Amino acid sequence: MMPINVSQLLKASIGSIRNYEVSEIIALAGDDGGSLVQGEVRLMRTDRGILAKGTLHTEVEVTCSRCLSLFSCPLALNIEEEYFPTTDVVSGAFLPRPDEPSGFTIDEHHVLDLTEAICQYALLVTPMKPLCREDCAGLCPNCGHNLNHGACDCPPQGTDPRWSELSKLALASDALLNERKGME
Ligand SMILES: [Zn+2]
Ligand SMILES: [Zn+2]
Repeated sequence: MMPINVSQLLKASIGSIRNYEVSEIIALAGDDGGSLVQGEVRLMRTDRGILAKGTLHTEVEVTCSRCLSLFSCPLALNIEEEYFPTTDVVSGAFLPRPDEPSGFTIDEHHVLDLTEAICQYALLVTPMKPLCREDCAGLCPNCGHNLNHGACDCPPQGTDPRWSELSKLALASDALLNERKGME
C-alpha cells in the first residue's frame, strides 16, 4: 500500500516492474474529509530510480462557480513521475540529488510515497471554474434564487430600466467608433 517499500525493486534489474493496487483515503486540497483514491500504479526500476505510472480515480467536493452549490467532481489522475533514491539500497551511502527540479525522492528507508504526487495531480485537474452541469442556470442576480430549481418572481432583465440605459450607452459608443473608423 501507500507508502510503498521499494527496497526489493531497487535491488532488481532495470526494467523490473511491480504493480500496486491503490485504494486510499487522501486529504486533497480543499477537501475536509479526504477522498478515496483508487486505481493501479505500475512501478518500474529505471537507471536512476523508480518510475511510477498509472491512472487513479477520485472525486472531490467542489462549489459550482455559477450556482454556488456543492457537488462532487470526478477526477482522473494520470500519474507519471520518477522517484529518486536518497540512499544506495545496498551500501546505505547517501546519493546526490539528480538535477531534476520536480523529482520526488524515495526516503532513506526506501519508502516511496505517492501521496504528494496525487495531491499535486489532483490540484492540476480540478477545474478552476467548476460547473455542477454544463447548462447550469446559475443564480438570479436580483434575489439570489437558484434558477436550476425553477424561475423566480423577478422581472426579466431586459425590462430593467438600468439595462436599457446601459444598452443605449453601448449603442452610442458603437456609433462613435464607427464614425471614427469612417474618418480614418
Ligand atoms: Zn451550478
Ligand atoms: Zn430573482
